[in-house]
Amino acid sequence: MTNFRKAFYIIISLYSISSAASGTVIGNGGDPIFEFLNAARSSMVETIRSVVFKKEELDKFCSSDKIEMEKQRFCRHFFEIVGPQIIELNRGQDRTKFALKEEALYVEGPDGKPMAVAARTQLGPLGVVEFHRGSVKTMIPTQVLFLISHESQHKVEFEGKSISDNQEIGPFADGRELLDTVASALTEVAKKKGFIGSQFGIQDIFDCSVEADDSSFGARIPSARRFSSDDLMSYETSMGKNPTDGTVFLPETSGSKLLLRMMISEPNNCGGAHVDRFNQVQIVRSISTDEGFEEEVLAERMFFENPMCPQAKHDFGISYEQVSFSCNYFGSTGTTSSQYSVFSKEMKNSLSSLESKKESFLSRGSPALDFYF
Ligand SMILES: [Zn+2]
Repeated sequence: MTNFRKAFYIIISLYSISSAASGTVIGNGGDPIFEFLNAARSSMVETIRSVVFKKEELDKFCSSDKIEMEKQRFCRHFFEIVGPQIIELNRGQDRTKFALKEEALYVEGPDGKPMAVAARTQLGPLGVVEFHRGSVKTMIPTQVLFLISHESQHKVEFEGKSISDNQEIGPFADGRELLDTVASALTEVAKKKGFIGSQFGIQDIFDCSVEADDSSFGARIPSARRFSSDDLMSYETSMGKNPTDGTVFLPETSGSKLLLRMMISEPNNCGGAHVDRFNQVQIVRSISTDEGFEEEVLAERMFFENPMCPQAKHDFGISYEQVSFSCNYFGSTGTTSSQYSVFSKEMKNSLSSLESKKESFLSRGSPALDFYF
């Protein structure tokens, strides 16, 4: 033990999460889709901020060969007025609530008949925005951003009233066309400025510390959740296990260190008791060799609960001789990660197929921008 350094070192490898992490952190056991909505909401607020208070940005907003000049001008003028209101409605404790619905959502269509939609809300600042879970689940971040941007415009006022989808407004055929034009312009800016990534994710966050001799050191470790089923109910999250994981470690000698490894396996999103739910915690000695690393597990503990579940104990720890590691679950947050900075061929290929999927989604017939199915 004497060769332990008094000063501890820590490595937090930050996965490749880009700037667009959501501002709020919640306890786990909630619906991940809900956190994706909040991550997209944060992107929307950041994007609006980056445009609406800067004249040179505002002048470029809505400019596109595909939009008539008169509509471009109206779009800018409208956005300048409603943008700050949208920011206000989407921040702080009293921000507009989101609700996820399993059942289909209907609104009155242009022909006066009920029409199924992915999201709906009442006009004006009060009331929740409802999202159809099944629709949102299959959307990529830019589509959710578009959807939230459209709905948010129903909640603000322009010339003394809120805009409905079917009313006539300025040079636009109806409110829907205006709201979609603004939402589309916002999504473009968000993509260009990196406020929205290509993939949703959840970060599980732990506060961990290591103690040895009479010193201690701690850090906040984010872990990227890996979903193992399409419904997002089963997943793994880990520290010190995969190359991109963060963890806390203690150097022993120049080529050797003790690190904390943790793996949580969650089978049904903190639902009822389940045999596949566990948290495996280890202290691992990692020695660098010519070929890479050699590892030896020095201590191991199994907990048959998930420290992130609301009813569970949120802290866990493990010791080996005079060294002890302990962690406490802090919370989880939705993110959109940008893979654009990772240069691998497969990534580029999958991105371009994503890109074309999105394009086809966004250009699917005329009122498709309103996310009807
Ligand atoms: Zn609408």
